[in-house]
Amino acid sequence: MTRTYLDHNATTPLNSEAASAISDALPLFGNPSSVHDEGRRARKAIETARDAVARMVGARPDAVVFTSGATEANNALMTAAMASGLPLFVSAVEHLSVLEPVESYPHLVILPVDLEGRVDVGALETLLPEPEDEPRPSAPRFFASVMLANNETGAIQPVSEIAKRVHARGGMLHCDAVQAAGKVPVEIEALGADFLTFSAHKFGGPKGVGALVRRADTPWPVPPLIAGGGQERRVRAGTENVLGIIGMGAAATAIGTRLTSVPRMKAMRDRLEDAVLRDCENVSVFSRSAERLANTSCFAVPGLSAETAVIGCDLKGVSIGSGSACSSGKVAPSHVLEAMGAGAGFSASAVRISLGPETAEADIDRFIAVWRQVYERFNERRDCAA
Ligand code: PMP
Repeated sequence: MTRTYLDHNATTPLNSEAASAISDALPLFGNPSSVHDEGRRARKAIETARDAVARMVGARPDAVVFTSGATEANNALMTAAMASGLPLFVSAVEHLSVLEPVESYPHLVILPVDLEGRVDVGALETLLPEPEDEPRPSAPRFFASVMLANNETGAIQPVSEIAKRVHARGGMLHCDAVQAAGKVPVEIEALGADFLTFSAHKFGGPKGVGALVRRADTPWPVPPLIAGGGQERRVRAGTENVLGIIGMGAAATAIGTRLTSVPRMKAMRDRLEDAVLRDCENVSVFSRSAERLANTSCFAVPGLSAETAVIGCDLKGVSIGSGSACSSGKVAPSHVLEAMGAGAGFSASAVRISLGPETAEADIDRFIAVWRQVYERFNERRDCAA
């Protein structure tokens, strides 16, 4: 059975640029810390990749630290923020790699979101500490973390607005840009965030590699993310994932090509959403009125559980995500949708369709046909039970 893959926010296929860069680099076995030729060649490949990641976001190469993914980078920043003992402001819709490490931090303040899943900038202003006479003190007065695009709904946060307010009050801002990369342009100076975090496999690169990127005048957090070696300028010890980093660099270089597919993805996503709205009663599309990623649609038909819908589609060759697929593969209630005021019924029914540059019109036709069958089956059962 040919398959239709519509779960690109979970992960993307390795693109041809990354695949060939990795396969060309397979013979490169040297340890990048070694001074001999083999080591120097591995080092050079890493630095080329660092340049590419820096260029992707308009940062300086020395502001890029490679990590094992966004989870590590997000955890490390939250740990550094907590070690400071300063207040920490985190949006209610952050990925769990931001929220879980801080959940019992005594100085945590959760930033609320509106019904469309956007951080309420007015509420943020009332929650942040009062401005001081010195607008940017040398040491931060607090930390904040607000993502650029939500993995479940695709809602885009007003990060540059938030950064201005955070800086005006003497704070530092982290922005998880994992889902935004390759779907909207990400430029660190325009966003104004002090740190951005990325995961390569969300934009055509390999899994198990990511990056933490710092804005030009932001100091590195202390202590190091991982201690015990001089790699990554002592910020993140451990022999580098050379092939992964090379793949991430190639995917970063190809980000422009990815972005050119955005208008096409939007047209396909809208066609799919229109069909669902036409075919199903009572369907709710989350963050529909917000600025959101062009590739993402998250919706719920109350009573039709996400698990049933995902399995029903899978059996017919279509891969979709549930609103909140946790790492164990089970469908848990979504903290994102709940923070947006959606009741538990909606949250348990939320499915997420996410397109990629490889998605074709035929995939959308197939999804629409399969979804209709899943929905009709649900309706028949509901009528029998009534
Ligand atoms: N942040 C966001 C918004 C994500 O969607 C994800 C992956 N689902 C992560 C962080 C973590 O990325 P990784 O699992 O690759 O470390």
